[in-house]
Amino acid sequence: MLSRKIIEESDIYLATSTRDPELFPLVIDHGEGVWIYDVDGNKYLDFTSGIGVNNLGWPSHPEVIKIGIEQMQKLAHAAANDFYNIPQLELAKKLVTYSPGNFQKKVFFSNSGTEAIEASIKVVKNTGRKYIIAFLGGFHGRTFGSISLTASKAVQRSIVGPFMPGVIHVPYPNPYRNPWHINGYENPSELVNRVIEFIEDYIFVNLVPPEEVAGIFFEPIQGEGGYVIPPKNFFAELQKLAKKYGILLVDDEVQMGLGRTGKLFAIENFNTVPDVITLAKALGGGIMPIGATIFRKDLDFKPGMHSNTFGGNALACAIGSKVIDIVKDLLPHVNEIGKIFAEELQGLADDVRGIGLAWGLEYNEKKVRDRIIGESFKRGLLLLPAGRSAIRVIPPLVISEEEAKQGLDILKKVIKVVK
Ligand SMILES: *Cc1c(COP(=O)(O)O)cnc(C)c1O
Repeated sequence: MLSRKIIEESDIYLATSTRDPELFPLVIDHGEGVWIYDVDGNKYLDFTSGIGVNNLGWPSHPEVIKIGIEQMQKLAHAAANDFYNIPQLELAKKLVTYSPGNFQKKVFFSNSGTEAIEASIKVVKNTGRKYIIAFLGGFHGRTFGSISLTASKAVQRSIVGPFMPGVIHVPYPNPYRNPWHINGYENPSELVNRVIEFIEDYIFVNLVPPEEVAGIFFEPIQGEGGYVIPPKNFFAELQKLAKKYGILLVDDEVQMGLGRTGKLFAIENFNTVPDVITLAKALGGGIMPIGATIFRKDLDFKPGMHSNTFGGNALACAIGSKVIDIVKDLLPHVNEIGKIFAEELQGLADDVRGIGLAWGLEYNEKKVRDRIIGESFKRGLLLLPAGRSAIRVIPPLVISEEEAKQGLDILKKVIKVVK
């Protein structure tokens, strides 16, 4: 088997990372739509979207590939923080127009989610305030600033510290597992109130004055933390609190943005208008790395305060523009297929939560979760873990009804066997 050999050699040459040869002895050769083929000719149905990057399928949507080839022949790197180019401007205009918030905005381009977060940290600290609030269970990346905000797995923070000073972590309103043991499905407003009170009556009283808090960073749905969906009114309440003290809301849409939840931006499900929004993962169409930070115009950097080499790359931006157009047209489809997932996934785990094509299946036992993922892989269905003991079920948004049912059938059979 070619796979075995490549995995063995990879372990010799590649830095140890999150790859797990036990769980996924998968060496990808190529992809076609929602299908992935390994180097031994095995075929897998993908319910991972490469962690929300290949939302338009593998290797990408045909129209995105076409635009990419055309743009590559004209201009790719464009020294976009020194000179100007059209694809960068066009993508910025689209992001400003389609993102929530009826006010003037600006965009800074980078190459990844973590860089989009680093830029956001500068944007909010540009107010002169020094503290940042983030949530337990949140994931914002792995560079120095963003890892300081990340708190989804303790191991992710080992060795790297000490971290950026001034970051305060507070509980996320996780309806299934929270420090107050509130059943957040039965008592959503009680859960929301606890979190808001915790910030206002404890953090602001005992730890930091609210006038010195620059921003609150959050994921509209926690991705890495387990596809955790907060109660419907949480962000509106958080916004009220933020407004009261002049604190900025930073909405990290790196994993949930661009159609995953059936809306272009996940926060649109929660009737809230953030001051800063980050995007990355799916924006590059599975082809180019790209990150974007969209923020209120009045929060603009001072000249020379922030920049990079590759951001605003004409190729990445031309691709991002096309991705946005395609995703906008795809939203009704996501909502249609999402209904199938909503129906079929019910009862398949101890907690089932989701919206659009962003689903989490949580098991009380991590062992059960791991066995389901392993057994599904053997039967040709790719799933990834998330959080403590959840599976994320996130197929490419282009998945057909037939393919969705095919994957769900495998999953149901596996769960019967494992349980
Ligand atoms: C993946 C992710 C990041 C980090 O993105 P990278 O491109 O891996 O740096 C940040 N925030 C969220 C919500 C993510 O899911």
